[in-house]
Amino acid sequence: MSLFFISDLHLDASRPDCLTAFLKYLGERRHGEDLYILGDLFEVWIGDDHETALSLSVIEALAACPAEIYFMPGNRDFLIGGEFAEATGITLIEEPHVIRINDERVLLLHGDSLCTQDEAYMRIRPMLRDPNFQKQLLMKPTAERLEIAGDAREKSQAHTSTTELDIMDVTPQAVIDALIDNSATTLIHGHTHRPFDHERVLSATTGRRIVLGDWGKLGWHIHLADGALVLDSFSI
Ligand code: MN
Repeated sequence: MSLFFISDLHLDASRPDCLTAFLKYLGERRHGEDLYILGDLFEVWIGDDHETALSLSVIEALAACPAEIYFMPGNRDFLIGGEFAEATGITLIEEPHVIRINDERVLLLHGDSLCTQDEAYMRIRPMLRDPNFQKQLLMKPTAERLEIAGDAREKSQAHTSTTELDIMDVTPQAVIDALIDNSATTLIHGHTHRPFDHERVLSATTGRRIVLGDWGKLGWHIHLADGALVLDSFSI
């Protein structure tokens, strides 16, 4: 079994080096491998109908990739939908998603649902993930959606820079609850941009939480090597 996990590339026209690195990464994937993209592949996604040079090159590369690709939307690209899936041949998955590795249940999340101390964000999250809200949003003209996305991004950046760092990290109890609720022993997620392989999350558990990193100067992934999950980085 060949498995790969990535997240938080935050692809954007202003960061061509990240796009190049992603295209190279896809080019290295082989038939028979599974690649899981755990959200925030794009910095912003306002709908599958909005074509940009960036979206077109990513769609083309995903479609050409011989690996089986699974995509779990994050808090920035939650508007990715069926058209994107069809054009790329990827499989959309919803969180929580559990896979089996060596008879072990491994829970996959983007990670934002674990940051429960960020009350301002947790209040709007159900609305953002509501299919009816998304439908209404997607009916708005592109220009208006771009404006809304720009506003949201500015607010989010202002919020992130004024929110205490530990509030932006996961709540330990939320990790435990997610593992227990899904009968899983390992959790893989991104979102927090704090790549680390946490063994034994809390003293009471023997869980493992592997956090993917965002792509910047380094790219991050988790892969299965000799039957074990390994968190690795590489230069971009
Ligand atoms: Mn995120």
